[in-house]
Amino acid sequence: MEDNIFYKFAIGELRPDKVRYEDGEMLAFDDIHPHAPTHILILPKKPIQGIAQLEPGDELLVGKMVYRAKLLAEELGLADKGYRLTINVGKWGGQAVPYLHIHLLGGKPLNEDIEHFSYGE
Ligand code: 5GP
Repeated sequence: MEDNIFYKFAIGELRPDKVRYEDGEMLAFDDIHPHAPTHILILPKKPIQGIAQLEPGDELLVGKMVYRAKLLAEELGLADKGYRLTINVGKWGGQAVPYLHIHLLGGKPLNEDIEHFSYGE
């Protein structure tokens, strides 16, 4: 976990370029390789590898992260047309960074084909 870039963001050792939101429990910032005009990542400050590693008691934290995504989407004017929240889980789920994060994507129509999922490019 110590070598994980998102862990370093979470504990404040490194700072992402464009922070969109921060409180005691989470951090939201722009993805370095955006797949849509808006591509924000929301991660917990509590170190959790991913959805598969959630423990009893983490439910509220994840709920707050989802709710923050909704608020950010509204602030950025995405709510009217719609947007996507994605959580990749593990290798086959396409999770590249083993630190829990929600993707918030919007600002253009996104690919609806879940089976051949991409971010719509
Ligand atoms: P995953 O595939 O794990 O669900 O998503 C990882 C995301 O993190 C990718 O969209 C990737 O572009 C983004 N990412 C990886 N390293 C960095 C970084 O150092 N800074 C930022 N802002 N995003 C990163």
